[in-house]
Amino acid sequence: MKAAQLISHGSPGLLAVNDLPDPSPGPEEVVVAVEACGVNHLDLWLEDGALPIPLKLPRTPGSEIAGRIVALGEDVDEWQLGDRVAVQSNLFCGKCEFCKRGDESMCINAQLLGVECDGGFAEQVVVPWPALVRLPEGLDSVSAAALILAGSTAMHMLTARCEVHAGDWVLVMGGSSGVGSAAIQIARELGAQVIATGSTPEKMELARQLGAGWVVNHTQASWPSEVRKITGKRGVDVVVEHFGGDFLKQAFHCLARGGSVVTCGATAGRDISLELWPLFVKQQKLIGSYSRDRADLVATLDWAAYGKLKAVIDRRFPLAETPAAFARLRQRQVMGKCLVVPGL
Ligand SMILES: [Zn+2]
Repeated sequence: MKAAQLISHGSPGLLAVNDLPDPSPGPEEVVVAVEACGVNHLDLWLEDGALPIPLKLPRTPGSEIAGRIVALGEDVDEWQLGDRVAVQSNLFCGKCEFCKRGDESMCINAQLLGVECDGGFAEQVVVPWPALVRLPEGLDSVSAAALILAGSTAMHMLTARCEVHAGDWVLVMGGSSGVGSAAIQIARELGAQVIATGSTPEKMELARQLGAGWVVNHTQASWPSEVRKITGKRGVDVVVEHFGGDFLKQAFHCLARGGSVVTCGATAGRDISLELWPLFVKQQKLIGSYSRDRADLVATLDWAAYGKLKAVIDRRFPLAETPAAFARLRQRQVMGKCLVVPGL
């Protein structure tokens, strides 16, 4: 089979599409023929060598996988050849105290698919069968792959890590990104009034099309006061944050009393200082969100199949052009998701 392997770190690193032996499954594993695999910032962090995890190269990246089962391990009874599946990329152990209570996103033994083991920028990938989720009827694999990681991350943020009630104000940072585009739609579906941010007229228009009632430009210094103005100076109940850096600090200027900033990323910086006085006086919360539980992934795919959550596809790349897909995400020109489709 062909696979895109990261040979050496860098920005960009060296990615090469190589011929490798077809993988064979261990007793508790299956082989999935990859039909589509989404490109994420996680892949760029892996490429940069910027992840705080010991890594071994070469590595096939790719963590957002939809496809079809083509080989079954001898102890796998739950699945059949030909089943259409999505893969939960946070490979959880199923045995620790967190997994046992269904909080797989908190698994203490979790492995990141496409980082700590080979992932989906390949014709085939081996995964443990408990990581599989069935693709609902009527949901194509490209749309599914565009939502598996970013969409379910947004689902986890808005339905598991915090609560959104009908009528709440929700601010979505970077509304045209993978997480942002899903978060706008999920918050709308939960009955919220959604404000989004964007950095270009095109990205702002996409956020509007996805259901944001108001869109502000976060490259302008006045954006937090614009958000406050939209809410009649009250502030928002929830901020969906994934930029980090100064944006996270500014998110608190947009926040109502009792409100929550939920954060799942830090592409603009991991190290910030925060003034604690307004945080406790206004009884606000800063909530970390990481990965997803299987329940979040099931909900994401079901919502997509029912038409409540639409995948936003930027561009599809054949496997041989995986480096170009990485470069496009790195240039921050992406509207929605870039995907690698090995069958193209
Ligand atoms: Zn676990």
